[in-house]
Parts: sequence; structure tokens; C-alpha cells
Amino acid sequence: GGEAAALARLKHYLWDGDHLGTYFETRNGMLGADYSSKLAPWLAHGCISPRLIAAECGRYERERVKNKSTYWLVFELIWRDFFKLYCAKHGTSVFKAGGPIGSAQRWRKDPTLLRRWKEGTTGVPLVDANMRELAATGFMSNRGRQNVASYLALDLQLDWRDGADHFESLLLDYDVCSNWGNWAAAAGMTGGRVNRFNLVKQSKDYDADGAYVRHWLPELANVPTDKVHEPWKMSKDEMERSGCRVGNYGDASCDYPTPPKSHFVYGEKGGGGGGGRGGGRGRGGGGRSVAATPAQAAIMNRGKGGGGRSGGRGGGRKRVQMDYMMD
Ligand code: FAD
Repeated sequence: GGEAAALARLKHYLWDGDHLGTYFETRNGMLGADYSSKLAPWLAHGCISPRLIAAECGRYERERVKNKSTYWLVFELIWRDFFKLYCAKHGTSVFKAGGPIGSAQRWRKDPTLLRRWKEGTTGVPLVDANMRELAATGFMSNRGRQNVASYLALDLQLDWRDGADHFESLLLDYDVCSNWGNWAAAAGMTGGRVNRFNLVKQSKDYDADGAYVRHWLPELANVPTDKVHEPWKMSKDEMERSGCRVGNYGDASCDYPTPPKSHFVYGEKGGGGGGGRGGGRGRGGGGRSVAATPAQAAIMNRGKGGGGRSGGRGGGRKRVQMDYMMD
């Protein structure tokens, strides 16, 4: 910990390892030390300033390379600023069930389901692997955080504040504004675009060979790759051969649980990682990509290098742009 360790990490990430130049391509990773900067814990504790990181990124652009990756790390730091301003504006409403938009949505309270989510025994490998990583290390990738939050709030429809509270108790990089702001956004409580992720699709896109889920879920070690993200689809024979019997949660003769009965889990109605749900303001369907705030609009426009109104109807180019931001 401390400033010395923060500076050493910055030096490693930018200069010794030269990872900044490929950040855009690696930032959605989940396994390993260098797919992202991992500077968040030091930022959260005030051991390093975002200005120093931004200044070093500028120097890297001058001395090594200037590309989309070097732009993107600073862009992510701006999200951090954004959530600080967002919370300053909305005050304690970010801690309330209806969030800053004052949604009347009712959230489920189901202690068993919540426990399964926390301990990583939901039966959805991507969720379980991420939750076990969090419990073991105090860290979870941004990709993982978005998926487990979407699963808790939008699929299981459990009170999103229980998820935020759990993150608060475990994250090494816990930051009031980044945590509660991102959770409120994930639950659709900010009025902005909502990403309801299709967990199976996300798993195949970001963990194609199953290395990540196998790393954290040893019970899936020998499950064939085409079933590792959907182990409930294994035949009896395959379960036998892979030494992984999938069955009811709590059944001691089983190695891994089947997911709770929810059609969302299986992806039939999932949004493919992109389908918006119309967050809180009653917009349904294909997800509207609009800037939630003028600040967000400014950020979106920065990426386009132009002025004009950002946002627009989902499904087209504008939507892709929001995907870059939130995915
Ligand atoms: P990098 O990808 O290297 O990004 C560099 C820095 O940019 C990060 O260190 C962070 O300061 C900032 N940043 C990146 N993404 C975001 C974002 N979406 N929102 C705000 N800042 C961002 N981040 C925290 O620092 N503390 C939290 O408590 C926290 N809770 C989160 C909860 C949820 C539900 C979600 C979806 C995201 C949360 N994040 C939080 C944001 C993000 O996941 C982490 O900042 C990031 O994964 C930390 O890893 P890194 O330092 O390697 O990030």
C-alpha cells in the first residue's frame, strides 16, 4: 500500500510493461495482472492523484505512442470524476431504493438468493467466478462488476442496494461515489441507458475458452469448453466424465448448483449485452442511447471530436458509442 506502491504500479503499467499502449484492447479482461491499470485501490485511498496519472499518460503519448488506448485510460478517469459530480448533485438519493430518479420499482428480498450471489453459488459460472474472486481478493474487473450487478438487479431483481453494500464491504478500491453511482446506473436508477447483460453471451465473448471460470471454480476444471458456461446442459455422461455433477442448490451429492429458476438466466430474453430495458422512466424495448446528463453528453462528444447533440435512438451508431462507455 501507500504512495510508493502506487507509483511503482504506475511505472510498471506505463513504462516497464508498456501496457498503456494496448489498454483499449485488454481492458475488458478478467484474468491476470495487467489487462487494466489496477490503480483504483490507490486512487480510492488517496495514495495517488488522478492528475498525476493523466500527466503520465500525456508524457507516454509524447514519448511512446498516442492512440485510442492512451485516450481511453484518461477517459475512464473522467468517469470517476463524473460519479463524484453526480453524487454531489444527487446527494443521499443514490443510497435509496428508487435512486436519483425516485423510481417506484419494488425490489425482491430473498436472503437465500442473495447469499448464493454473495458466496458464488448461483449456478451461473461467470457470476460465481467473479463473486469468488471478490471474496478472495477484494478485487473484481469492471467487466465482472457490470455482469454481477446486472444479474443481481435485473435478472434476480433483488434489491440493488444489497449488492452495493456487499461491494462496499469487500472492495479494496471501494469509493462511495464510484460504487453507489455505478450500482444505481446498473440497476436503472439514474435514468440513463441500462445494460441488461445476457450472461451466457458475455461469458462466451469475454471468456471463450473458460480459463477465467475454471480458475475460480475448480469444480468446473474438467467440464468441456462448450458447456463450461452452461454446465446445466451437460448430459449425465458428461457430468460423470468431467467429475462435476450439477444439481439442486444444497444437495450435498452435487458439485455445482443449477441456476435459480429464472428464464432470464438462460438468455432467451437477455439483451445480448446491449438491449436496454428503459431505466426507470418507463422506456421499454431496445435501449435508448441518450446522455443522462449534460456532463455525460460532453464526454460522449469528446469521443466524436465534434459538437452537436449526443444520444439518439438505440440500435444505430449512437448506441455503439454508449456501449463503449458503459460496457
Ligand atoms: P482501469 O480500467 O485501469 O481504469 C482506470 C481508472 O479509471 C480506475 O482505477 C478508476 O479510478 C476509473 N474508472 C474506470 N472505470 C470506472 C467507472 N465505471 N466508474 C468510475 N471510475 C472508473 N470503481 C472504484 O474505484 N470504486 C468502486 O467502489 C467501484 N465500484 C463499482 C461498482 C460497479 C457495480 C461497477 C460496474 C463499477 C465500479 N467501479 C468502481 C468502477 C470500475 O469497475 C473500477 O474502477 C475498475 O474496475 C478498477 O480497476 P482498474 O483500476 O484496473 O481500472
